[in-house]
Amino acid sequence: MFKDKVLVFDLDGTLYNVGAKVENLVDAKVKEFFKQKLKLNDEEANVVIKDIRKRYQYDVEALDEEYPFSKKDFMDFICNVDISFLPQDYALDAKLKKMPQRKFILTDSTKKHVLDVLLVIGVAADNFASIFDGHDMAYTFKHNPDGFKLFLDNYGLKAKDCLLFEDNPCNLEVAKEIGFTTVLIGQEDKEKPSFCDYRFADIKKALEYFA
Ligand SMILES: [Mg+2]
Repeated sequence: MFKDKVLVFDLDGTLYNVGAKVENLVDAKVKEFFKQKLKLNDEEANVVIKDIRKRYQYDVEALDEEYPFSKKDFMDFICNVDISFLPQDYALDAKLKKMPQRKFILTDSTKKHVLDVLLVIGVAADNFASIFDGHDMAYTFKHNPDGFKLFLDNYGLKAKDCLLFEDNPCNLEVAKEIGFTTVLIGQEDKEKPSFCDYRFADIKKALEYFA
């Protein structure tokens, strides 16, 4: 039933789960970026970031026009975090290897971050046909249908043929609207949103179901 599907995986919070630890590291890098670029102290940087977050869903969206810095430089900087503490998960690698479907990673972060993470957790990058990142999505990201459409068009895929594994319900809601089958990873303590077709406690349980 699922053998002909294409499996599309988010990375952070989906292929591994360490709570908000990586998110917090990225947040610290965001602060560091504005401190360096605008020559601010801690408090001033906090004010700038708070203001940006009132108006934009993602910090990067304030760049270019409002702050004259490259979105690429910003993403490369904030995603360059030390994730060497992530636990190894060879069982996940073994499960992925057994899945006959084509697999992709679709992430708002950067390819470098994906490869760093895969290396540390012990999941081979060649389990995946390709990695599509925030740069490839032209910084539209997964809260915007355009980000998904760029991904689909790039590989000649149709949303109806794709399962999306993701820990962020907001991204799943967008994906569902354009025709993906949606698989929420985690958040078992909350009510399953109607736009999530499936929900599993973790990625390995999900893979067992779709194998
Ligand atoms: Mg995620």
